[in-house]
This record gives sequence, structure tokens and C-alpha cells, in this order.
Amino acid sequence: MLRQVLLGVSRSPKIKKAVSSLPVSSGIVARFVAGERADQAVLSTEKLVSDGLFVTLDHLGEDVTELADATATTDAYLELLRQLSEAGLTQQAEVSVKLSAVGQALPGDGEKIALENARTICHAARNAGTTVTLDMEDHTTTDSTLEILRELRQDFPETGAVLQAYLRRTEADCRDLAHAGSRVRLCKGAYKEPESVAFQNKAEVDKSYVRCLRILMNGAGYPMVASHDPRLIRIAGSLADRAGRHKDTFEFQMLFGIRPEEQRRLASEGHTVRVYVPYGEDWYGYLVRRLAERPANLQFFLRSLISK
Ligand code: FAD
Repeated sequence: MLRQVLLGVSRSPKIKKAVSSLPVSSGIVARFVAGERADQAVLSTEKLVSDGLFVTLDHLGEDVTELADATATTDAYLELLRQLSEAGLTQQAEVSVKLSAVGQALPGDGEKIALENARTICHAARNAGTTVTLDMEDHTTTDSTLEILRELRQDFPETGAVLQAYLRRTEADCRDLAHAGSRVRLCKGAYKEPESVAFQNKAEVDKSYVRCLRILMNGAGYPMVASHDPRLIRIAGSLADRAGRHKDTFEFQMLFGIRPEEQRRLASEGHTVRVYVPYGEDWYGYLVRRLAERPANLQFFLRSLISK
């Protein structure tokens, strides 16, 4: 309930302006965001990798409405991949891309532009020896994102998908994507969605997550279990055991700054654990989704605003 209210309120331009004026170094922003520049994100990646973790980096930004901004985001990924390559990190670090940041929502040719920009990033990632995962945004973009994924996978079959367990359609999407070579990140879902398309309460979302996970673990693809939920992490382990999966045939994923001890504990047990590291100047939407997930974060955040 609180989550839905917060996600709704966050659309207010006044609130966005007040929050965006916080410096990225302020406590709450720095907890979830690795910095505004690529070199800061690469530094955070180096630290995580030295602790035995893997990384996926997200250049923050979404819902781009100008072609020039879509091109700038694409260039930012190319620069990031160059820096990761120079730092020798492309075995351990890949990138996550939001299609709305590379043009998907532009009027007219938006989907075509997003596909071409994503293709450019996939190409650079492959040349650097790494991969791309397409983040999933609100439900109005799901069909378009899966269609672009299908197109991209013709040339770059290593491209990862994201599915959101809160959507009623996701079990069927899991069946479609649980084939050999298919990397699928399963998360609960972070947007404000109507009841017609999404489960609204935690118990229902969690049950859906388990059903989806069962399909992915029993399939032939590579499941990426993106959750901080201790219960779901335990269930993922047992489903993998029951499906006869070795630890190197699936991975756990968590967000930068959330449950870091658990990230290291799973890695010390021999699991692949990938940390999602966001960076960039446009951190507002990302931060709001993290605050909405946990009331305790909100208190911490309000303190940062008051002490500004
Ligand atoms: P929850 O039930 O929300 O949380 C379980 C426990 O985890 C909480 O009790 C708490 O201990 C801890 N926790 C969770 N969130 C927080 C937080 N913000 N601060 C502090 N503690 C917390 N969503 C999308 O819609 N599209 C995507 O492409 C996408 N990509 C993701 C990639 C990764 C690697 C991860 C980990 C998540 C991604 N998400 C994405 C977000 C996801 O959908 C959830 O909103 C988010 O992960 C919280 O859900 P949870 O599974 O951790 O469970």
C-alpha cells in the first residue's frame, strides 16, 4: 500500500525537483548509487570483484523523450564498456540497459531507434568480451521489450532478459524463455501496476515468483535469481538442487547497497552472485523505487532531506 502511494507521489514535479537537488554523495543516494560518473562505477565494480562478486552496471536514466538523449545514453554505455575493458573487468562485469533510456518511448520510430541503439551496445559489449541484459520496465512496455529482445537475440543470443513475477503473464513468458542459452533474470517487479495485469499483495507475488522460478530452474536456460528475499533465496537453492543443477548453471543477483553481507555469504558458498550497480546523474526514478520497497529507507531518506 505504502509502496503504491509512494510510487504515485513520486511523479510530482515538485517532489522530483526537491529530491534531485540532493547531492549524490548524501547518505541515502550514495547507499544505492555508485556515483554520477563511469569511472566511479568502475571503481565500485573493482571493489566488488575483489570480494569475489560479479557485476551488472546500469547507466541511470529512463523515459527519454529526445533523440539526442537516447544517443547520449548509448554513447555513455560505449564509454563504460571501454573503461571496463581497460580495467580488465569484462569477464566479471556486464551491463544492464533500459530500452526507454535508448529511445523506446520516442514518438514514431521509438522502438526501431531503441533496437538500433541496443544493437550498438550489444556489439560493443561482445567486442569487449561481455554481455547485455535488457531491464524490464512498466507493463505497457513488456511486449515491445520482449520483441526487441527476440530481434537482438538473433545476432546476440547471449542477451539477457528480465521477467517480473508480479505480472500475471509472467509464468507464460518464463515458459517461452526457458530454453537453452537463454539468460533470464527473475525479479518481483518495481513499478506501480494495476490489478488487471499484476498481483497486488506480497503473498501472491511471492507465490508467483516460486512458480516462475520452478519453470526456469526445470528449463534449459540460465536463471538469474534477482531477489533479496531470504525465503525466496532458500527456495531457489532447493529448486536448483531438485532440478539437478550445478552451481554454475544459475546465479543470484542483488542490488548495490542491499544485503551486502548476504551477497558475500552466498559467494563464499560457491554461488555466482552478481551485484546490480547503478550510476549516473539521473538517479531519481531508481532511488524512489528503492525507497518505496522499504519504509525504513524512507525514514533514513527524510533525515537526509532535513539535514540538507
Ligand atoms: P522484497 O520482498 O521487496 O524484499 C525482501 C527483503 O529484501 C526485505 O525484507 C529487505 O530485507 C530486503 N530489501 C528489499 N528491498 C530493499 C531495499 N530497497 N532496501 C533495503 N532492503 C531491501 N525490477 C524491475 O521492475 N525491473 C528490472 O529490470 C529489475 N531489475 C533488477 C535487478 C536486480 C539485480 C534486482 C535485485 C532487482 C531488480 N528489480 C527490477 C527490482 C525488483 O523487481 C524488486 O523491486 C526488488 O528487488 C525488491 O524485491 P525483493 O525480491 O528483494 O523482495
